[in-house]
Amino acid sequence: MHLFQTQHIKLYNTLSGQKEAFKPINEGHVGMYVCGPTVYSNVHLGNVRTFMSFDMVFRYLKHLGYKVRFVRNITDAGHLENDADAGEDRIAKKARLEEIEPMEVVQRYTVDFHNILNKFNFLPPSIEPTATGHIIEQIEIIKTILDKGLAYEVNGSVYFDVLKYNETKQYGILSKRNVEDLIHNTRELDGQSDKKNPQDFALWKKAEPQHIMRWPSPWSDGFPGWHLECTAMSTKYLGDHFDIHGGGMDLKFPHHECEIAQGEACNDASPVNYWMHANMLIMNGKKMAKSTGNFILPNEIFSGDNPHITKAYAPSVARFFMLQAHYRSILDFTNNGLLASEKGFYRLMDAINIMDELKSSESSSITILDWKQSCYDAMNDDFNSPILIANLFEGVKFINQIKEGNASLTHDDLEIFKATMNAFVFDILGLVNVTKVETSTDKLSGAVELLIQIRQQARANKDFALSDKIRDELAEVGIQLQDGKEGTTFSTN
Ligand SMILES: [Zn+2]
Repeated sequence: MHLFQTQHIKLYNTLSGQKEAFKPINEGHVGMYVCGPTVYSNVHLGNVRTFMSFDMVFRYLKHLGYKVRFVRNITDAGHLENDADAGEDRIAKKARLEEIEPMEVVQRYTVDFHNILNKFNFLPPSIEPTATGHIIEQIEIIKTILDKGLAYEVNGSVYFDVLKYNETKQYGILSKRNVEDLIHNTRELDGQSDKKNPQDFALWKKAEPQHIMRWPSPWSDGFPGWHLECTAMSTKYLGDHFDIHGGGMDLKFPHHECEIAQGEACNDASPVNYWMHANMLIMNGKKMAKSTGNFILPNEIFSGDNPHITKAYAPSVARFFMLQAHYRSILDFTNNGLLASEKGFYRLMDAINIMDELKSSESSSITILDWKQSCYDAMNDDFNSPILIANLFEGVKFINQIKEGNASLTHDDLEIFKATMNAFVFDILGLVNVTKVETSTDKLSGAVELLIQIRQQARANKDFALSDKIRDELAEVGIQLQDGKEGTTFSTN
C-alpha cells in the first residue's frame, strides 16, 4: 500500500487553465521535466524560487511513494540573447567578454548553480543532462520535422514553419495566443533573417565563422535552437509522452509553446499531460533587475552583504520564506518579510526541538488523524505550502499545549504526530534544523577574541611575525582587526 493510493493530488494545469486530478501515465511512476538554468551568470534568485517549487513537488511525490524520474537540464549552448533567435549566444558572449573558453563559462556557473542549490538543501534531480551532450538527438528530431514538411532549410539554417503547423494543429495552445494575433504583433522581418515568417523559430542555426560553439550537421556547421534541446532531452529520458513539465512563468511563451509544437510535429500527440508554471519573484514591489540596483544574489542573503537587507539569513530561513507563498503567486522579497519568516522558522524549530520530551497520556484530547489529513489536504490541493505551514503551526500549538499539560496524546497518537511533523517539515518542505545565525556569530566572536589575545601575547613577546600572520590571515577570511587605545576590536565584511 502506497500513500498515493489514498492521497489524491489535484494540480493546476496551465494547458487547461484548471486544477485537474493527477493521474500518471504509468501507475506509481512519474516522469517530470523542468527547464534548467542557462549557465552564463550566477543563478538568479527568481530562478531559485522556480527550482525550489519543483524541488518541493519532487519531494512530495516521492513521499507519497511514487517512483519519480526527475530530469532537469543544463542549457550550455543555443540560448541566444533574444528569445526570437536573434543576438549572440549568451554563453559565447560571456566567454568573449571574459576572454575564456565557453566551456569555462559553463563550468564556472554550473558549479555556482549547484553550490547555491546545495545551500538551499535541494535534492539533486535523477538526471541532469546538457544541451551539448545531446546534439545528435537534436539533429535527429530536426530530420523528422523536415520529413513531415513542418520545417524548411534556408542558407544552412532550419526553421519551424509555424503557419504550416497551424493548418492542422494549434500553435499557441498553452499560452492562449492565436497565430493571427502573433502575426499582427510580431515585428516585421528586418531583411537580415532567413525566416519565411517572423513567428517561425530556429531548429538549427548556421554558425558565423567566428562562432566557437559549432557542430557539424546535414545543413551546416552550426548549433541547435534553444527550444529544441528540451524536446530532445525530455523525450530521450521520459519518452514521447510524459507526465509533468515545469518551468518559470516566463518560459510559457515562446519556449514551452515551441516544445509542444516540436513534440506534436514528431509524434502527432501532445508530449506532456500536465504543464506547471511557477510565478515570479519581485523585490520591494518591483521587478528585480541588476541595472536598477533592485537586485540581490542568493549568496548575499546568507552573508547579509546587500543594502536591501539588514542582516544575514540562514538558507533555511530564506527557503521557509519562499515556501510561505504558493508557487503560483507572485512573491515579494523584502527584508521585513524575511524577518517575519525568521521568527516563524525558529518558533517552528524550537517546538520541534522539544517534541521528543513530550510525555504521552492515557487518552488523546486532539484528533491527530484529522490534523494529519489536513496537512496532506493542503499539499494535495496544488501543493499549497502556505496552508501546509499554517497546519504545522497548529502542530506547534499542540506541542506547547501538551508540554504545559493543557492537551494530551496517547503513545500511538504522539508517535503519529511526531512522524508527521518531521515528514512535512524536513522531507517535504526540505527545511534544515539549523541553530540561529546569531548563535554562530557568538561562536565566531569567541574564537576571534581568543586569536586577539594570542596576538597580544605575541606582540608582548615581540613575535611580530606571528602577530602579523594572525592579522593578515583573519583579513583573508573577511575579518578585520582594528588596534585602538581601548585594545583591539574586529569587524567582518
Ligand atoms: Zn526548456
